Parts: sequence; structure tokens; C-alpha cells
Amino acid sequence: MTGAEHLLSRRHHVGAALTPLDPEKRRPLTRVAIVACMDARLGIETMFGLRAGDAHVIRNAGGCITSDTLRSLRLSQIRGGTREIVLVHHEDCAALSDPDADLRECLDLLRTSNELPHTDVVRGFIYTRGGALREIRPDRRAE
Ligand SMILES: [Zn+2]
Repeated sequence: MTGAEHLLSRRHHVGAALTPLDPEKRRPLTRVAIVACMDARLGIETMFGLRAGDAHVIRNAGGCITSDTLRSLRLSQIRGGTREIVLVHHEDCAALSDPDADLRECLDLLRTSNELPHTDVVRGFIYTRGGALREIRPDRRAE
């Protein structure tokens, strides 16, 4: 059985109905976009108690701010109505050698971005090996 077949089998056994795509709920209720590493150990929905429709979640290797992440965040803000950004990097990351330093760079990049209409509320967190969230304050030297 392939991994995809395993997932589809689990889907069949769970049996829960999928949430219909309500056009009225296209805009996330919290008005937050979360950018996080794709690491499978990070349960972003569980971490923040998210339900369908609560937030945009953008994931890639490291949770880095790339041109594609900026494109997604721009769409999230312009068409999805989000106004805040939360970044989640983590310890023991295969994509980042220094998650704290990378997160600081990402926070500065977002806060000074000309591509995003809304950069007033940008917060960054490190998910620790022990399973806690540690907030990283933006680097004020960049101002
Ligand atoms: Zn990672």
C-alpha cells in the first residue's frame, strides 16, 4: 500500500463529512495568515486550535519568506482579508541551520516589505524540541 493509499484508507474509515466550501467564509475568521515549516511534526491546526475557515496556512521548507510566500501572503491580504501574519519556525529543522536567526530575518523582511499592504502585526515563534512556542521579537536594528 502506498502512502497515498494509506491516507485514502484512513479517510474512508474516519467517515466524517468534509466541510462544504461556503463562499461567505472565504475570508479567514481570525484574519490571520500563518507561515510555517512543512515539517510533519508541526501540527499547526492543533497548535492554534484552528478549524476550517479560521486562518490561511502557508507551508514550505523552513517556513521561509520566498517570492512564492510573498505572493501567497499578498493574495491572502488583498483577496482573503487577512491583516496579521504569524510565522512558525522550529528547532531540529532539516531546512534551517539557525532557526532563530532565520526567523529574525523573515520578520524584518515582512515588516519592511513593499509588496504587502498590511505589515503592522507580524509575530514569530519558534516551536521548541520540548513542544513549546517561544516568541522571537523582531530585530529593531533594521528600523
Ligand atoms: Zn523545518
